[in-house]
Amino acid sequence: SAERLEKKKTIDLRKKHIGPSCKIFFSHDPIKIVRAKGQYMYDEKGQRYLDCINNVAHVGHCHPDVVKAGAQQMEVLNTNTRFLHDNLVLFAQKLQATLPDKLCVCYFVNSGSEANDLALRLAWQYTGNRDVITLENAYHGHVSSLIDISPYKFHQLSDAEQSQFVHVAPSPDVYRGKYRADHPDPAAAYADEVGNIIDHVHKKGRKVAAFIAESLQSCGGQVIPPAGYFQQVAERVRGAGGVFIADEVQVGFGRVGSHFWAFQLQGEDFVPDIVTMGKPIGNGHPMSCVVTSREVAEAFTSSGMEYFNTFGGNPVSCAIGLAVLDVIEKEDLRGNALRVGGHLSVLLEELKDKHPLLGDVRGRGLFVGVELVKDRVKLTPATAEAQEVIYRLKEQHILLSADGPHRNVLKFKPPLCFTAEDAELVVGKIDQILTELETALGLKPSETPTAETESGKRKASRDENGHVELTHDDEGRRQQTKPKKRVRT
Ligand code: PMP
Repeated sequence: SAERLEKKKTIDLRKKHIGPSCKIFFSHDPIKIVRAKGQYMYDEKGQRYLDCINNVAHVGHCHPDVVKAGAQQMEVLNTNTRFLHDNLVLFAQKLQATLPDKLCVCYFVNSGSEANDLALRLAWQYTGNRDVITLENAYHGHVSSLIDISPYKFHQLSDAEQSQFVHVAPSPDVYRGKYRADHPDPAAAYADEVGNIIDHVHKKGRKVAAFIAESLQSCGGQVIPPAGYFQQVAERVRGAGGVFIADEVQVGFGRVGSHFWAFQLQGEDFVPDIVTMGKPIGNGHPMSCVVTSREVAEAFTSSGMEYFNTFGGNPVSCAIGLAVLDVIEKEDLRGNALRVGGHLSVLLEELKDKHPLLGDVRGRGLFVGVELVKDRVKLTPATAEAQEVIYRLKEQHILLSADGPHRNVLKFKPPLCFTAEDAELVVGKIDQILTELETALGLKPSETPTAETESGKRKASRDENGHVELTHDDEGRRQQTKPKKRVRT
């Protein structure tokens, strides 16, 4: 076993030396993972967990090709990008080949946050403007500049003060948002909202530097924007002198199946000005990238300030990045995401008839959200029930998370080697759990739920990966969920 300390000792040392705001999953009974392979993680006792949430381990945990590429390069050389190195240029070339021609200049950095922060600097420098438009519930990173544009985070602060340069547009969510599926043209309606913000900025005598959005909102609740929304937003933002930044940190690299990049779901006529990447790019190795046009890159250079990043684009990271791209291609993981993700969505969709708690199923490839509601008309979020599903799945050694502004969206984003059998297993378990919860609530199919489970007493919070953290009763133990209404026999 790879365990070096007894679990209790690990917990004690963590409490003593690790910042308390770094939350842990299932804090009453945290999981100690000692190794992982493919879509599975193993604890210190050898218990296997099916991983439905790790979008970082994109091509599978510890993929041998990726491990080998990194280890081999580490034996030979690792240094900064001030020397010529083939890995750097070959990786940039191979990455560019996945993108539209216009997006041809790369800056390699080390985290999604660094990528988004640099994207803002590029936008500010290129446009000479300052204001930024972001989406409701968005999360773009943990550095100061990004907390400012992340309502997901700044709304958690009681004394939240929104920067006067930041403007929040409604989330293009056609299930729960301002304009829904029954609206004649939600894409135009949501884009008009961005247009209104631009007018508002102009009235203040300022101009917009950028609109930033994830190509599909992840922390924001697995939101899939209506087709045409990005084109219409881009037209307005560019018309006002700004640029479009697509954050592909969670959703890129073939996860959506039909395309390599999630922004491509909007259609071939849409190309962002800047794309940021992270998480899956290194399959767990910390690296990330900003890709932009020659024009934007040249404007950034014209400031006269050198851009230097000690670790970004080092030969080891680039070797790993190249290996990840090779594996996606060689194992047709994009095709797998399309097939298995499609199967998963169909299975979940089938549960809708049976389970009144299941409000909406939405997904593209292996990026799928299941929104739980207590009332399908009022869309009352079934937050406690979603937390209960996550807990019961954990007991059955399946890792899933719940996210979104109401933390009621079950969020699938597994490694792309996820199989049809894995999908069937987890959907089968969710089916059982929902049946139990609905029985406890006294719900029948087609009936509107009203009762609350005791688990509703739990307070949930979350982190930017959509990982759920529950607060428990004073003894720090998990409360048992007892049905208030007894099962009718
Ligand atoms: N953008 C998005 C959409 C993210 O989900 C995250 C991380 N969860 C980030 C940016 C920030 O990435 P990192 O944690 O690597 O800095």
